Amino acid sequence: MKPKIAITGTAMDTKYGYGTFLNRAYSEAVIKAGGIPVLLPLTFQDLCDEWLDSVDGLLLSGGEDVDPNRFGQHPIPKQGKITPDRDVLELSIIPKAIEKKIPIFAICRGIQVLNIACGGTLYQDINSQIPGTIKHSQNAPRWFGTHYIDIADNSKLHKIVQTSSMKVNSYHHQSIHTLGDGLEIVAHSSDGVIEAVEGTENLYILGVQWHPEGMWERDSLQFELFTAFIRECQ
Ligand code: MN
Repeated sequence: MKPKIAITGTAMDTKYGYGTFLNRAYSEAVIKAGGIPVLLPLTFQDLCDEWLDSVDGLLLSGGEDVDPNRFGQHPIPKQGKITPDRDVLELSIIPKAIEKKIPIFAICRGIQVLNIACGGTLYQDINSQIPGTIKHSQNAPRWFGTHYIDIADNSKLHKIVQTSSMKVNSYHHQSIHTLGDGLEIVAHSSDGVIEAVEGTENLYILGVQWHPEGMWERDSLQFELFTAFIRECQ
């Protein structure tokens, strides 16, 4: 049986109505890696327990900013668009997934909301809050890595990609500030911005600040992130 992977999407208001949107790149990567993607519709967060009882993994996709009130801060002027319904769903399902020991793969916004769910905080805007950062909002194709990350030698991430330095794409203006409970930092860029975290317990939790779903077709190391996750969900 192929593992079923619950994936969160973003809130979209269209001429057809209000609902959930997921870039097909996430589903395609999960399918190619051997899983079955299952999109979780927004505003039905009361179903989190039932969903988690019927899936084998949780993938938190990229998207808009998390409401800073969710980590005890007032919004600064550079704070971006927020999607409150999505915050509710993800901040409900993450603690339950950890409790039920469901493997989690968190991408871009995913690593940020994962950190908040674990009690951490974010930089609301790295350019204005961290002096001297490199460019993290690239003007380049999604498949193209624009900055390097350094990967901790003894990490699960290192075990997956088998390298201490890797080029990644970058589409974020926020990043982890204080780290949530049960997480450890396993990669950062040259300016010290946190680029990956994983769970400290045996449970498989991997969060990455870049977008591997945009790179895997041309970069086999990025595809390994999906195959490792799906393997863990078997
Ligand atoms: Mn980056």
